[in-house]
Amino acid sequence: MGTKGREIVMMDVDELLELLNRAYCDEWLAYYQYWLGAKVVKGPMKDAVIAELDQHAMEELNHAVMLTTRIIQLGGTPITEPKDWYKWTNCGYDAPDNPVVRTILEQNIKGEQCAITTYQKLLQKTVTGDPVTYNVVLQILEQEVEHEEDLQSLLEDLDLMLQKGN
Ligand code: FE
Ligand code: FE
Ligand code: MG
Repeated sequence: MGTKGREIVMMDVDELLELLNRAYCDEWLAYYQYWLGAKVVKGPMKDAVIAELDQHAMEELNHAVMLTTRIIQLGGTPITEPKDWYKWTNCGYDAPDNPVVRTILEQNIKGEQCAITTYQKLLQKTVTGDPVTYNVVLQILEQEVEHEEDLQSLLEDLDLMLQKGN
């Protein structure tokens, strides 16, 4: 923990740590959902979809790294038990049990939309009290916005391709 770094936070640090830990659980679950989705996905445009899912998996893992770093700076402890990820998550986990491209894309779009809402709330919470966390959250939010658009544009390409085939 950085003592002076924690002292300058002008908001309830325990509440902030809880919100950061919740987001941390989301990121691990998102990572796994993308990672496994990339392994099992089937159907048209599979190669392009796999490349995007793999990239997003690595980016979600990096979000977990960014959140852990901030949690530790603030004197907190990242959730140590994976079984607690389910208890603390905001956005949950959608198992890729139906591996068709469209379903996998739709599940992950839903996850990204939840992530965008979560980080938007965290930005509002930190905008006046903690500029350091604000900056971390803003970087993550920018990437979640990009993720949503990446997946929606793949879905659009899939629809165009299937129309053309008719
Ligand atoms: Fe993320
Ligand atoms: Fe994302
Ligand atoms: Mg991408």
